[in-house]
Amino acid sequence: MSLRLAPSFAPFVRSLTRPLLDFVLPQRCPGCGAAAAPERLLCERCLALVPRLSTALCARCLVAGGDGSPCSRHAGFAVHAPWQLDERSRAVVHALKYGERPSLARALGPVLAGALPRAARRADLVLGVPLHAVRRRERGYDQAEALAAALASAIGAPHATGLLVRVRATSAQARLGGAARRRHRAGAVAAADPAGREGRRVLLVDDVVTTGATLESALAVLRGAGARAAGVALAWAP
Ligand SMILES: [Zn+2]
Ligand SMILES: [Zn+2]
Repeated sequence: MSLRLAPSFAPFVRSLTRPLLDFVLPQRCPGCGAAAAPERLLCERCLALVPRLSTALCARCLVAGGDGSPCSRHAGFAVHAPWQLDERSRAVVHALKYGERPSLARALGPVLAGALPRAARRADLVLGVPLHAVRRRERGYDQAEALAAALASAIGAPHATGLLVRVRATSAQARLGGAARRRHRAGAVAAADPAGREGRRVLLVDDVVTTGATLESALAVLRGAGARAAGVALAWAP
């Protein structure tokens, strides 16, 4: 009799074995090969070399304002990100996304919090940008939720899941051009629970801002529900 693991069981097993591997395997910084703490991935030197973003982005037009606020045309679409994407920050994002590293996400909570202006730290709720249910089942891990939980813990705010849902998988978007991709993604996020967010200060977390369309769509939903929302992302890919 052969024993076979059900596919849905695999992410669970990986989540159990991963911390063990982190413990057993020597950790090398992907930036320079020096020894590095497994929960940080990058060594101190490479971490310091990741280019920083000093001002908020606008999720709608991806313009960074000069005074710490996003473009004046689109209030309510500010996105705070500590990093710009380079080969070092890309290694962190990749390990977080495909390496299922909850310990890595936890260590990034203070990094995300550090990108927030003082006023934005007083949030009532922290949410992750929703991953489509199909994608989540495939991966068994949701990096945006992991980052949201880490940020919530860093600023002492509650983390909630399931308030926003992805209503359409966006797998076909890689084949589309920029404008078509934006249209395809628009409306891809909906509120599962539209009640109870009136006036609440919500932080919405994603891993990387590329086109800004996912955050834009989710921020618009939250704004429509009466929340005062802002985006937070680990890195901006300009
Ligand atoms: Zn290094
Ligand atoms: Zn704008």
